[in-house]
Amino acid sequence: MSDSRNDHDNGPTMPGRRSVLKAGVVLAAAPLVGGVASRAEAAAKPPVANGPFTARAYGNTSATGPLGPLQIKRRAIGPNDVLLDVLYCGICHSDIHQARNEWSSLPTVYPCVPGHEIIGRVQAVGSAVTKFKVGDVGGVGCMVDSCGTCENCLADREQNCLKGATFTYNSPDRATGENTLGGYSEKMVVSERFVIRIPPGADLAATAPLLCAGITTFSPMQHWKLSSRQRVGVIGLGGLGHMAVKLAAARKAEVTVFTTSPGKIADARRLGAQEAVLWTDTAGMKRLANRFDLLISTVPESYPMQPFMDLLALDGTLVNVGALNQLEGGLIGMSMAFGRKSLAGSVIGGIAETQEVIDYCAARGIKADVELIRPEQINQAYDRVVGKDVRYRFVIDLTTGKKA
Ligand code: NAP
Ligand code: ZN
Repeated sequence: MSDSRNDHDNGPTMPGRRSVLKAGVVLAAAPLVGGVASRAEAAAKPPVANGPFTARAYGNTSATGPLGPLQIKRRAIGPNDVLLDVLYCGICHSDIHQARNEWSSLPTVYPCVPGHEIIGRVQAVGSAVTKFKVGDVGGVGCMVDSCGTCENCLADREQNCLKGATFTYNSPDRATGENTLGGYSEKMVVSERFVIRIPPGADLAATAPLLCAGITTFSPMQHWKLSSRQRVGVIGLGGLGHMAVKLAAARKAEVTVFTTSPGKIADARRLGAQEAVLWTDTAGMKRLANRFDLLISTVPESYPMQPFMDLLALDGTLVNVGALNQLEGGLIGMSMAFGRKSLAGSVIGGIAETQEVIDYCAARGIKADVELIRPEQINQAYDRVVGKDVRYRFVIDLTTGKKA
């Protein structure tokens, strides 16, 4: 998906690396090969002011292997980079897809360190950084770079970068060419352009999921101009779905949830939906035919969509953000044509829009419902997400021994 460039410096041999740090920290570094440090290398740890360094992370080394502790290499802090001391990282279902190599068009490079709902405290900044100072709190979502020059990047749609956005994990790093490694990690080095300002006083753990689940559901509401009193349906009540409900309710839209889990019906109402309907409730589905202006589907797998297309009003759109592999056929052309209905996709949102959703939520007290876990519990959390048993986002607490 992404290209990689060679116009980068690549570590401690470059002259002047030390001078790029405006506010330095003493980092432990070791001679490293590739993205992961061996135990011996990690143990060596000669302290240096700057240069690539090792960090503790959690990831896996094969599609079937569980996630466990790893030592990884982080790039040296460049002039435009900030070093984040990671405090919290949400668990998105995308993390599971990627760790398990479930996306046919985005094969996983191992070792894989997932995590793209990251909140961290700025521990050091490069000499050209203007947006952050040491001690600030920053957030990182699904992207850490893009070409910055194509028409989509110039229009603040870095997620649609024509040369391929650099994703927070499983992408070639534009600075080093190495595979990016995500936020299940104690430290991250990220270009300030891709770090989101977190407003003071925010509930940091409950803000982390806004960086993916929040923006991914906010962006289609903005694009399709969801307004008050319009009708929106949210298909699938998990991490993305529960944010979609909260964000749509904040716009005073009329929200209906479509769930496969009877146990979530009461939650849907508590989160702001007027109604929740089980997929198996054929009478309920029939009653709601031709009603919705917008449907947002967060279901992680392909499924027959025609029963949901039937729910769209004239000119309505079903936006699929969930299923990213081949979609099932079965859509009926006559129904789409007669109702001028659309099926669309959408991927996260740009950096400016991500800042917008963070500020929007901070101003309105909107946050995710989170269950905090320790890093050792990641594998159990994955099983619970896959089993539709998350209420409604797991967030890994990486604050142990740190000033949160
Ligand atoms: P999640 O927390 O697991 O929520 C998904 C929900 O969908 C489940 O809780 C469940 O809700 C329903 N569901 C799950 N499996 C189902 C199945 N086989 N059939 C029918 N319903 C099912 O996942 P998430 O983190 O919200 O992510 C959802 C999807 O969005 C993932 O595929 C993820 O990769 C993708 N994603 C896309 C973007 C993007 O930019 N486009 C960004 C982030 C994530 P009920 O119990 O209510 O039925
Ligand atoms: Zn995500």
